[in-house]
Amino acid sequence: MSAFKTLDDLGDVTGKVALVRVDLNLPMQDGAVTDETRIRAAAPTILELAEKGAKVLLLAHFGRPKGERWSTQSLSMVVGAVEKVLGKEVMFVPEIAGDIVAQAVGILRAGDIAILENTRFWKGEEKNDPELVKAIAANGDFYVNDAFSAAHRAHATTEGLAHVLPAYAGRSMQAELEALDKALGKPEKPVAAIVGGAKVSSKLDVLKHLVTQVDHLIIGGGMANTFLAAKGVDVGKSLCEHDLAGTATEILETAEKSGCTVHLPYEVVVSKEFAANPPSLRTCNVHEVAADEMILDVGPSAVEALADVLKTCRTLVWNGPLGAFETVPFDAATVALAKTAAALTVEGSLISVAGGGDTVAALNHAGVAGDFSYISTAGGAFLEWMEGKELPGVAALSA
Ligand code: ADP
Ligand code: MG
Repeated sequence: MSAFKTLDDLGDVTGKVALVRVDLNLPMQDGAVTDETRIRAAAPTILELAEKGAKVLLLAHFGRPKGERWSTQSLSMVVGAVEKVLGKEVMFVPEIAGDIVAQAVGILRAGDIAILENTRFWKGEEKNDPELVKAIAANGDFYVNDAFSAAHRAHATTEGLAHVLPAYAGRSMQAELEALDKALGKPEKPVAAIVGGAKVSSKLDVLKHLVTQVDHLIIGGGMANTFLAAKGVDVGKSLCEHDLAGTATEILETAEKSGCTVHLPYEVVVSKEFAANPPSLRTCNVHEVAADEMILDVGPSAVEALADVLKTCRTLVWNGPLGAFETVPFDAATVALAKTAAALTVEGSLISVAGGGDTVAALNHAGVAGDFSYISTAGGAFLEWMEGKELPGVAALSA
């Protein structure tokens, strides 16, 4: 990871204007914010800048308005929720550049906070248009990026601004980059990765990258079926991408060459119908799946063997549940291995980093999310990082 500046590197910013990119793409229902997690993630950076006496202008996107103004996607809707989390009044400015923003800056006192309008109302945002970048930058003295979740996009407010203003990583961005660096950048070895979820096709690049990086690759979920089928196992009615058999074989070959041990389930939980506690539920050896059965989870003995693997490791990266965890009892393997990983983390023998929408939900369901070393809520950016890609928003901070 190349070096980037943090808020520790700011000099005296009293009265200076901070343009701060945050993630305010909040889940909403009937015009009300239903989950404040993303606001809480940005709060330390916003409050620190305000305490240091900066005038804080927040930049964020909301939804996919595709370069047009939609009143239903105005960031004015999140002002109340942001005020509540910050415990401070927040001004709303219905523009991101130009005279209206300049006037707002004139009104704001040192330490005041404003939210600018949804950046994606302007076509230049997603195009990273240099004219828009210049116009936004004209009202600011420095730029802070605290939105790791948008860092895989090279947009005006996620990348462009970093090239025209002094640029700093916010606290949330900094924490994410430091955690990710510990997990895959310069990890303590041995390193294990767990990759699960529905489909191989959605995580091909992740798997290809990980086999060259980690000592143990644990594959679970629906995607394990594709690997099993490629090895000649009859997976019955299981979710399986048979057309990816060749790709799966290549990934296994690369793993072998790279000294990465791949762990596929040798015992599985199956049933004839996909329902909670189905009557046909049974646990069997992976070679005994009947033609009318579906593999829906990893079996308990196989999970114990995986727990033993984690006990020999110092670092774990996890993306994707091991089974169809939304339906009982197919959450059992994910919950059991999550508890092991959490206990090892609490003991201090494992650094554990996890990410992905369903993965975070599964770890919350297991009640252990708080015990992991780091949980990324970044989604797409987390996956691209797992693919070994350089994220433009991060690269621009280090330039
Ligand atoms: P994430 O959002 O963490 O990246 P994914 O979206 O890739 O995870 O995968 C999660 C989905 O995979 C869940 O909805 C889960 O039910 C499904 N899944 C896991 N194992 C199986 C399986 N054996 N058969 C069918 N679906 C599965
Ligand atoms: Mg998902």
